[in-house]
Amino acid sequence: ATPTALLVGTGRGAQLGVLIRGPEVLESTRRVDTVLLDKTGTVTEGRMTLLSVVAAEGEREDEVLRLAGALEHASEHPVARAVAEAALARSGGALPVPEEFANAEGLGVRGAVEGHTVLVGRERLLAEEELALPPELARAMAEAADEARTAVAVAWDGAARGVLVVADAVKPTSAAALAELRQLGLTPMLLTGDNARVAATVAREVGIEERHVIAEVLPRDKADVVARLRAEGRVVAMVGDGVNDAAALATADLGLAMGTGTDVAIEAADLTLVSGDLRAVGDAIRLARQTLTTIR
Ligand code: ADP
Ligand code: MG
Repeated sequence: ATPTALLVGTGRGAQLGVLIRGPEVLESTRRVDTVLLDKTGTVTEGRMTLLSVVAAEGEREDEVLRLAGALEHASEHPVARAVAEAALARSGGALPVPEEFANAEGLGVRGAVEGHTVLVGRERLLAEEELALPPELARAMAEAADEARTAVAVAWDGAARGVLVVADAVKPTSAAALAELRQLGLTPMLLTGDNARVAATVAREVGIEERHVIAEVLPRDKADVVARLRAEGRVVAMVGDGVNDAAALATADLGLAMGTGTDVAIEAADLTLVSGDLRAVGDAIRLARQTLTTIR
């Protein structure tokens, strides 16, 4: 391989909307056989909106949203943004400022609002405090998951009090991008911290096989999943956008960051898809294969 020919490859890459860290990246791009995709913000838009508020028996929806929104206002997670935005709108822009706030990575948030100890997040976050969902809230969570909607539970002062349902749309280009990956002979897989049923529904929508869905993975465990797949002999490309994807991007044979994502992800990656259009993944792999074929 001559450096000049490789640089032609990187120049074409820029035209395709892909930034390549250096010419040496093309070699791993060519060898990739498995593409692991983060769900939120990568396969989906990552811009969530609040669809519904479900209050437990004896609770008020407004209060569920107000306390959850106050706490989520301090978080930048897509779920948090949707909740805080809706709460702000409904309260006329006046939310209490939390006295305490802590992020439970991949699980949700905890803190104190107006003297109440508040939790917002996955069922697992509540389970850590030995809080169970009453049947009406468990039902709301299950129904949301069946419709590929993310539901988070809201608890305060030792009891689960509500469920918030948010939705995120699959990007219009994702299905075509995944079809191209399969056509190139690659195996696409979905890796997410979200609920298994939500993940399965999104996977079905874009044509990822159910056995290739890895869900409910904590951010710190995403890199281990990549390492495990590599140990099985796969050559793994990881595509992600979040702070929670950075370690996985660095562990993969090839890390691809969405240009629309966080700086941390972009810094950890070998390739950046400038516009966040997943079709550039297949384009980059095809380009790398062609470039190296031309040079031989
Ligand atoms: P992904 O891997 O899909 O990008 P994350 O690991 O960031 O997802 O989050 C996994 C799940 O944890 C979310 O789907 C949500 O249920 C919950 N979660 C994370 N952060 C928050 C938050 N700030 N508020 C509520 N729920 C959260
Ligand atoms: Mg993400």
